[in-house]
Amino acid sequence: MPTVQLGHQLALNENPYGPLPSVRAALTGALVAANRYPEFLPRRLPGLIAERLGYPPERVVVGAGATGVIMHILQEFVTPGAGVVMATPTFDGYPLLTDTVGGRVVEVPLTRDGHQDLAAMSAAVDQRTAVVVLCSPHNPTGTCVGHGAFAEFLERTDPSVTVVFDEAYIDFVPPGDRVDTAMLVERHPNLVVMRTFSKAYGLAALRVGYAFGSAPIITRIRRWQLPFGMTALAEAGVRACYAAEDELALRTETITQECARLASGLRDLGYRVPASAANFVYLAGCAPAELDRLRTVFTRDGIQVKHCTTGIRITVGDPAATAAVVSAAR
Ligand code: PMP
Repeated sequence: MPTVQLGHQLALNENPYGPLPSVRAALTGALVAANRYPEFLPRRLPGLIAERLGYPPERVVVGAGATGVIMHILQEFVTPGAGVVMATPTFDGYPLLTDTVGGRVVEVPLTRDGHQDLAAMSAAVDQRTAVVVLCSPHNPTGTCVGHGAFAEFLERTDPSVTVVFDEAYIDFVPPGDRVDTAMLVERHPNLVVMRTFSKAYGLAALRVGYAFGSAPIITRIRRWQLPFGMTALAEAGVRACYAAEDELALRTETITQECARLASGLRDLGYRVPASAANFVYLAGCAPAELDRLRTVFTRDGIQVKHCTTGIRITVGDPAATAAVVSAAR
């Protein structure tokens, strides 16, 4: 029996829609062979993704979500005590996993309008820096890094530093607003671009993330893959999603529109909400008393959100969730 969920789960930036019937059918089909191991090291799955991106397979590495991929990147490039530069606040996984490999978290505050401060991040890079992580759209603010600013950032970054560009939410961004990562990975062999099937593709439970970049950097990250580490369901799910791109794009568009409605509903109440290009919004710069009040009313109404130090991140759900959030905040 599926668990019945009361209230609104808006804390994890999940897709509010369950798998499409075609994707569910493919997953059910894959379950029939659940007694069999998947591939020893994944070849078909990265091959599928590489083909879609127009790369040879050796330029794509897969992992247990983007979380698994970032873990392997840090394992490969961060020696004990080496610095990992990141914004703050940011995706919790970066500092958490940096700690597990013995790295030193170097945090650079966001600008007042919720952007990663690329100049300050460059200034934070020194001889002990191993990795810089940027995230676009940024978690928790939803703001994007511009192509020009990122290209310049890469130009002034020492090529011995690995630059991770996390595009977990890229499918929610209009194509014209995206960084041309395909061009930049050709120019910068130290750049790794990460993506995931957990968000727009709605496969968070299957744990599929990937990264692409130059063949040498991807080869190094692949050293950390676990034997039999990716499931057969992951491969079936990705294949089925690729066959249903148009239907999934309609859902993504629906979420994008709902995001605009949620943001404007909250702005109408006087909250500062940075322009989000993802499936969540951020109530920025809230005073502690206001954060407490929101925590109380959201809990009362069964609305789960993500509480950050100076704000609250709210995932875009269905129209009922938007109504519930706006009504509670009012
Ligand atoms: N990167 C960012 C920016 C995220 O927000 C998340 C999930 N919240 C992830 C990576 C990890 O996603 P997953 O491991 O499910 O692919």
